[in-house]
Amino acid sequence: MCASAHLPTNDDSDLVLELRASFARLQRNQTRPGYTTVILKRHASELYELPPPALKAFWADVAWVGAAVADLFAPVKLDNLVLGHQVPHVHCHVLPQYEGDDPLAPIDVNAGTVRLTPTQQAERVALLRDRLLNGA
Ligand SMILES: [Zn+2]
Repeated sequence: MCASAHLPTNDDSDLVLELRASFARLQRNQTRPGYTTVILKRHASELYELPPPALKAFWADVAWVGAAVADLFAPVKLDNLVLGHQVPHVHCHVLPQYEGDDPLAPIDVNAGTVRLTPTQQAERVALLRDRLLNGA
């Protein structure tokens, strides 16, 4: 994740924007429209490794991305998931929950197979970037 978080594109996602403490990336799996990850720029495996200002900046980035996703896609709720047992580098999945999603279903960020065309994906990246830069 250290090596690929900043790249315009990688196997899983496309770069939306470099934020203060992180990179925002739109996931290829768009089963839940707007599913984005916020990946810490510096390497740390655990949140407790971050000094308070860096921790605050990271969560501010997560909230900023969440506001943009909510504004664009109108989910009923956002899940902010910090996992990392597969990839030990601090990142947060901003996973929208929509009307019709079962709130009792186990969370699997890889569930579903919705993949946009490259053009649609690029449009969604641009939409999210614009919203982050210019607000609502
Ligand atoms: Zn790392």
